[in-house]
Amino acid sequence: MAAQTPIAFIGGGNMAASLIGGLVDAGWRPDQLVVAEPDADRRADLTARYQVRTTADNAEATREAATVVLAVKPQVMETVALDLGPVLREARPLVISVAAGIPLAKLGAWLGMESPLVRVMPNTPALVGAGISALCADAEASAEHRDTAQAVMQAAGEVVWVAKEEHMDIVTAVSGSGPAYFFLILEALEEAAVAEGLDRETARTLAVHTAGGAAALARETGDPSPVLKSRVTSPGGTTARGLEALERGGLRTALMDAVAAAARRSRELG
Ligand code: NAD
Repeated sequence: MAAQTPIAFIGGGNMAASLIGGLVDAGWRPDQLVVAEPDADRRADLTARYQVRTTADNAEATREAATVVLAVKPQVMETVALDLGPVLREARPLVISVAAGIPLAKLGAWLGMESPLVRVMPNTPALVGAGISALCADAEASAEHRDTAQAVMQAAGEVVWVAKEEHMDIVTAVSGSGPAYFFLILEALEEAAVAEGLDRETARTLAVHTAGGAAALARETGDPSPVLKSRVTSPGGTTARGLEALERGGLRTALMDAVAAAARRSRELG
């Protein structure tokens, strides 16, 4: 009998490539991974970069896999899952879906099986190994399945589990869409610095490193945000003046509205 390929990726785009890169860096052997991808250039690129086996045939890739990662766009997920169902029903591998907004029940119905399924909401910093993924599993997923899903997603950054699938809408609104909120803040900081007379490159370097540094400080100290904020702020100083302008301008309520609006939209789409 052929050796089992532990992980098959269906769709070899950006998200799959970042997971494959992370897994190879973490010590997985390329021959433990297989990628099904219709685009020949993409297949050649994946083989050149990671020495993984590729195929244009989704069913062939999954036939011997213990874990199947569905990494296609949400719009094509139904077709892909309906086609793969008969193959997966036999082997019952762990199926991990990284597609935004597709509930476990819908995916299970398309696959024609009850699982074991793990749904993941990753985010774009995964592309540089700095993602945060939220995971939730169906009732059929064992502790071992959960560990496997966690190990796969840790290849692209941090992982959190959510107990209730309905919370994936809030996750989507915070960490899924969140990078864009921070990019808007970066854009504004950069514009402001340029307007005050700095050259664009220096403005960008200052803004990007300040954002990265603030995140690193929050992560490494574990201190609550209000404490971190007050440590930068002397009464009557420059930061106090800046924060007053931000509160007056409604940044806090605008961000709260943004999360509520994005979560609402995620519920509408789900
Ligand atoms: P992508 O377009 O880079 O990759 C999708 C790949 O699927 C493409 O290479 C495409 O050729 C291939 N494909 C198309 N039809 C296929 C089929 N029938 N069978 C097999 N492969 C097929 O997209 P991506 O950014 O990698 O996103 C993949 C999934 O990850 C999406 O569902 C998206 O919601 C989710 N996601 C991605 C990010 C991110 O940071 N990129 C963040 C959150 C969620």
